[in-house]
Amino acid sequence: MTDGAPGAGSGAGLPGRIVIAGAGLAGLRTAEELRGRGYSGSITLIGAEHRPPYDRPPLSKQLMLGKADDTTLLSAESGLEVDLRLGERAEGFEADGQRGGLLRSDRGSHRFDRLVLATGARPVSLPGQGRQRFLRTMDDALALRALLRPGLRLAIVGAGWIGAELATAAAAAGAAVTVVEAGPAPLAAALGADIGKLTVPWYAAAGVDLRLSTPVASVEDGGLALADAGWLAADEIVTAVGVRPATDWLAGTGAALDRGAVAVDEQLRSSVPGVFAVGDCAAFWSPRYQARIRGEHWDVALRAPAVAAANLLGGSETYDPVLYIWSEQFGRMIQYAGRHTSADQRVFRGDPAGSRWAAGWLDERGRLTALLTVDAPRDSVQGRRLIESGAVIDPGRFADPAVPVRAAVLS
Ligand code: FAD
Repeated sequence: MTDGAPGAGSGAGLPGRIVIAGAGLAGLRTAEELRGRGYSGSITLIGAEHRPPYDRPPLSKQLMLGKADDTTLLSAESGLEVDLRLGERAEGFEADGQRGGLLRSDRGSHRFDRLVLATGARPVSLPGQGRQRFLRTMDDALALRALLRPGLRLAIVGAGWIGAELATAAAAAGAAVTVVEAGPAPLAAALGADIGKLTVPWYAAAGVDLRLSTPVASVEDGGLALADAGWLAADEIVTAVGVRPATDWLAGTGAALDRGAVAVDEQLRSSVPGVFAVGDCAAFWSPRYQARIRGEHWDVALRAPAVAAANLLGGSETYDPVLYIWSEQFGRMIQYAGRHTSADQRVFRGDPAGSRWAAGWLDERGRLTALLTVDAPRDSVQGRRLIESGAVIDPGRFADPAVPVRAAVLS
C-alpha cells in the first residue's frame, strides 16, 4: 500500500490525495494545472511506460524526419512535486462516493480522494501472424526511424493523419513506400472523401504508391494479404488504422463507457463520483455540438486538464471547445478547426490544386462551422475565432483569398 498523507497541506475541504492514472500529456497537464491553482496536497502520477511524460505529435514529424531525438515534457527540475510512478500499470479501482477510494495497480494500491483517468489510447491492430509495427510511443518511433533506409519496402496500412505523416518521412529517407487504404480517399473518416481526395496528388509527388479502396485481410510474414486475394510484398509493415481508448482496465469499476471511452459530462466528471477523465481515453459531452466527443486530439489533452483541475478542487467549470487538429504532411501544414456535417455548405478559398488554400463550411444560417486550411495558419487562427463566436459569413468574401477571413463576417 502506498498512501499519501491525508489532507497534506491542501486546505480545508480540498482533496488531500489525487491519483492520476496515465502519465501522458493529459495526465501531466492535470498535475501541472493542479499545482498552478495552488493545490499542495499529494499527486501520484502512474504511467505504464518507463519514460517520463513526452509529447506524441513530434514522433511522426520532427523525430521521424531526424530533426529531434527526444520529446520528453517533464524534467527532473520542473519542481512539480509529483510522485511519478513509471512502469506501473493501473488495473482497477474501487470508489466510495465522495469519500474517495483505492486504485489497484500491478505494483500495489494507492488511496485517493479524487481520481483522474488519463490512460490515453492504443493503436488498433489487424489480424494475421506477420509482424506489424505501430507508431504510438517514443520507443515505436525510434525503432521505426532506425529502420528507414533507401530501398526499404515499407507498407503503411491506413492513409489517415499518422499514415500520411509517416509516409512523408519514410519517402524522404528514400524508402519505397506503399500506403494501403480501405476507404475511397485519404483522411476520409476525418474530413470526408471529397476533401481527402484533394490530398491524393501529394502522395504521388512524394513518390508514394497510394492504393485506395484496398482493404487488407491480414498481415503475414513478408507482406499484406489483401481482401481481394491480392498480395503486397513488404519488408516492414506499419498499421495506422486508428486507436481505441485504453480503458480495458476499467471493467467492473462502474465507470460508464461510450464507444469504449470513459463517458464524462461537460465538467469532465465520470459516472463515478470523484472520478474524472481527460484526453484520449475520455468522451466528453459537448453542449456546443450536442454530442459526446472522443478526445483523440492533442489540443484536448492539452486544454481539458485545466477544467478537470478546477473541478477536482471544487469548481464547476465547463469544457466545451471548438475542436482543433493539425498535421504536417508532404511539406504542408494542415489545420482543421470545428466540426462540419454533410448538410453544411462547403466554400473553397483559393484553388485546392494550388499550394495554399482553405475550405470552410457554413450551416443553414450562414455560420462558419468548420475551417480546413492548407499552409494558411493565419486563416486558421481567424477562422477558429469566428467559429467560436458563431459569426455569420459572406460566402463570396470568404472565397476571396485577398480578403482576410475575419473580414468575411456579415455585419
Ligand atoms: P496518451 O498520450 O496516450 O498517454 C496515456 C498514457 O497512459 C500512455 O503513456 C500509456 O502508456 C499510459 N497508460 C495506458 N494504460 C495505462 C494503465 N492501465 N495504467 C497506467 N498507465 C497507462 N494530435 C493532434 O491533434 N495533432 C497531431 O499532429 C498529432 N500527431 C500525433 C502523432 C502521433 C505519432 C501520435 C501517436 C499521436 C498524435 N496526435 C496528434 C494525438 C495526440 O498525441 C494525442 O491526442 C495525445 O497524446 C493524447 O494524450 P493522452 O495523455 O490523453 O494519452
